[in-house]
Amino acid sequence: LIELNAVNKWFGSLHVLRDVNLTVDRGEVVVVIGPSGSGKSTLCRAINRLETINSGTIIFDGKPLPEEGKQLARLRSEVGMVFQSFNLFSHLTILENVTLGPIKVRRESKAVAKERAMKLLDRVGIGNQADKHPGQLSGGQQQRAAIARALAMQPKAMLFDEPTSALDPEMVGEVLDVMTSLAVEGMTMIVVTHEMGFARHAAKRVVFMADGELVEQAPPAEFFDNPRSERARDFLSKVL
Ligand code: ATP
Ligand code: MG
Repeated sequence: LIELNAVNKWFGSLHVLRDVNLTVDRGEVVVVIGPSGSGKSTLCRAINRLETINSGTIIFDGKPLPEEGKQLARLRSEVGMVFQSFNLFSHLTILENVTLGPIKVRRESKAVAKERAMKLLDRVGIGNQADKHPGQLSGGQQQRAAIARALAMQPKAMLFDEPTSALDPEMVGEVLDVMTSLAVEGMTMIVVTHEMGFARHAAKRVVFMADGELVEQAPPAEFFDNPRSERARDFLSKVL
């Protein structure tokens, strides 16, 4: 579903993605880990085309990423993204946050959008918060609303960039539970996270990045028990 071939990205003279090759099949859950500044966010943002790349190709669903216009808007709706900061519109209710995209971008009727939004909010466990504003919700609830908002666009894949890093510890679990159930249901997911438990249990593959390079990738059991590279061993010794 997602294919990166020899992708390079520079910020000025800083080489942040170095010849990255990565393929993610439909229904696959890939967890990306690595030290701060290794290019994990840039990788996610490139797939959603929030960042342009300098060389290489990114194929999504059989087609190169579109440059602009309607095709780009469609890509953004097909690839849901959830960030560390929840990025909800604070002046809208939770329900309005979730129905906005479907109504504006997918041209759904309000009734249809609302019905699906309510189902999604129930599914992430906050159906009873639909009429509140984001500021009235806990961080964990807001992040679950952000996930529901992305799902409302009926994406083909979901990108998560450290979705639990800004949360109080007691709220991490409720967000990871939602992500785990999505994974079990077969959603194609790329997840940047420091939650090694999630990586171990939900990922089909762990990808380790360092200094813009995709250093190694392996099934979680293999990666955590027998990391091949020195850099991965060093990283794991600090986080495990
Ligand atoms: P973290 O774990 O801290 O989130 P990361 O692996 O997500 O790190 P990136 O955010 O992808 O790393 O950043 C990779 C490198 O690119 C870093 O050195 C960062 O400072 C730099 N960088 C990121 N965005 C920009 C930008 N818009 N302009 C210039 N440099 C940037
Ligand atoms: Mg990052």
